[in-house]
Amino acid sequence: MKYISILGSTGSIGRSALDVVAQEPSRFGVTGLAAYRNIRLLKKQIERFQPKVAAVIDEEAAAELRTSLGRRANTAVLFGPDGYDELASLPESDMVLSAMSGAAGLVPTLAAIDAGKDIALANKETMVMAGDLVLARAERTGVRILPVDSEHSALFQCMEGRPRDQITKLVLTASGGPFLNRSADDLASVTPEEALKHPNWDMGYKITIDSATMMNKGLEIIEAMGLFAVDVGMIDVVIHPQSIIHSMITLKDGSLIAQLGIPDMKTPIAYALSWPERIELSLPDLELCAAGPLTFMVPDMEKFRCLALSLDAARRGGTAPAVLNAANEIAVEAFVAGRVRFTDIPRIVEATLADHETERADTVARVLAADGWARIRAKEAIDAL
Ligand code: MG
Repeated sequence: MKYISILGSTGSIGRSALDVVAQEPSRFGVTGLAAYRNIRLLKKQIERFQPKVAAVIDEEAAAELRTSLGRRANTAVLFGPDGYDELASLPESDMVLSAMSGAAGLVPTLAAIDAGKDIALANKETMVMAGDLVLARAERTGVRILPVDSEHSALFQCMEGRPRDQITKLVLTASGGPFLNRSADDLASVTPEEALKHPNWDMGYKITIDSATMMNKGLEIIEAMGLFAVDVGMIDVVIHPQSIIHSMITLKDGSLIAQLGIPDMKTPIAYALSWPERIELSLPDLELCAAGPLTFMVPDMEKFRCLALSLDAARRGGTAPAVLNAANEIAVEAFVAGRVRFTDIPRIVEATLADHETERADTVARVLAADGWARIRAKEAIDAL
């Protein structure tokens, strides 16, 4: 039996993970469920999976959850950053699924690593902000980090068991999002509703907007650099609108190894939870003949400025990726709130990065300070638009 705690249980990844867990009751147990403040759904999850501990964002949300669970509930309710850290470190759990949205996922994920929990990593910001720190701590506590992001799960599966010196490139595929065929000029008038319609994947709002700007792919480049300890020069991005090939690697003899599947996050989630075993998922088979032609193209760096900015931040290293990520979070929030245009997102990120003096990202305090600085600077950039 493997006991799992989930950071972000009411989000898109958390819900899919609980579907996988529910399908394999003899394999998985649930120790902790942490959410933001979706009390209604969290209550249902607690009643269904009976975790020892639950955690929510603040005291008010905790009080509401306790009241709705009733006095005879067996689940302890914690709250706030300390509550998340405690839930991530429970002695009863073997693995933590890190699936919160955004920079908030970093600190509880580090707590889980320090407590010796294997990590199923869906929160890419953890690797983007503090890849080196995460790897160093995971090495110290002997923790395994298993990727949940579909591209990184694909790379992991392609790379598994292969000596590193055979591998020449990691090729991340990108759907190109909903605006692949729009002209760059046309992007200024994009509405949040249009940007929130992803052609292939059903995801939370932050990552859906990031897919539309292609910032998501930029963050994934940096995530891959951390997870697989490679330089930015070893990573390529290819647009593949059908999202059937989830990523691929090239080998020194010219071979190309790819992982394919229907676009459903249950596959990479299940593999991270059950690795090295595989579990049967009742998903439709990938029918290649029915899928139609698979096409590929080079990403347009002028149109998708966020991708170019990510490459800059990746080359700068240190605190630059944390600044890129934080400025983007602020810009996306402002876009969804209708305060800035779609094309302002890269402008805000670029202005913030331009003012940042890169430091080494060698302590959590330094990373969080850069993150906090970038949020303030990005808000100033929005006011100056
Ligand atoms: Mg992905």
